[in-house]
Amino acid sequence: MLTVMDMRMLTMMVAGQQGMKMLGSKFCTVESAIPIFTVLRTNGASPSTPLSPVTEVGSKVQKFKVGDKVGVGCMVGACHSCDSCKNDLENYCPKVILTYNSIYYDGTMTYGGYSDHMVATERYVVRIPDNLPLDACAPLLCAGITTYRPLRYFGLDKPGLNLGVVGLGGLGHVAVKFAKAFGLKVTVISTSPRKKKEAIEHLGADSFLISTDPNEMQAAMGTLDGIIGTVSAVHSLLPLLGLLKSHGKLVLVGAPEKPFELPAFPLLMGRKIVAGSNIGGMKETQEMIDFAGKHNITADIEVIPADYVNTAMERLAKADVKYRFVIDIGNTLKAA
Ligand SMILES: [Zn+2]
Repeated sequence: MLTVMDMRMLTMMVAGQQGMKMLGSKFCTVESAIPIFTVLRTNGASPSTPLSPVTEVGSKVQKFKVGDKVGVGCMVGACHSCDSCKNDLENYCPKVILTYNSIYYDGTMTYGGYSDHMVATERYVVRIPDNLPLDACAPLLCAGITTYRPLRYFGLDKPGLNLGVVGLGGLGHVAVKFAKAFGLKVTVISTSPRKKKEAIEHLGADSFLISTDPNEMQAAMGTLDGIIGTVSAVHSLLPLLGLLKSHGKLVLVGAPEKPFELPAFPLLMGRKIVAGSNIGGMKETQEMIDFAGKHNITADIEVIPADYVNTAMERLAKADVKYRFVIDIGNTLKAA
């Protein structure tokens, strides 16, 4: 478990590969590689005030200047020579370096945003649209790209398509928002009837299916063009495959520890696909955040002070958060 002391001690200083091609971003929004907390840096500004000026740029930095509003996503490095990297898919590089708890090029540990200063290479920095508040858009750099990218890649971004979103948590709630912005008809699929009102009235979903209700599930058979599975607990795929039309796609972005049981017959009967997807490359991440800016998409968050982290962990274990905690490092991380 993280402690405040752990966080206090962590300062991330990383150097670029090409002659210290560095971007200093003392005020920036950083998403932890563990998609639980988002770290917000405002350093004196109100959490809702979108201020994150870059304080310093290296001599080879081309895309950013001092004062730009920026963020860092789940990655800070990769090999830059493999097929994935050459195709701007650093997220699928075998040597990807995650923002938190990875080993950087120089052998040091990466500490994400749990510090009062961060340096990152410009390839791994995204520009945050002016209209998005830093705190509420910070989780988009993880949960946002995780759900936005498969919708795009698997062609589930065409207006009028019917999409299912399994699970209404940190990932699921932004999946609904992106899907609605694409013009899809969205059905939230959940075990919790109490989430129906929230899904439809607050998030704008078109309908709600209780996955444990056989009558509801039966009535919805063969109605969906795609499903985004965000649940990280093991669940049965069979009923979900039944909800898909022929050629429907079930894309998993949640990662249960234990393997799924995959029934072949419902796949064959309808040429259906089960696939997975993991965040996105940096170009795709910039595209996602620009799209979010255009459509005013943000995550629903609860901003917490640094010394609330352990309590937040306990609440997370009980799924007691709507929908992401954001740690206000800038205002609440105190020197020891
Ligand atoms: Zn690579």
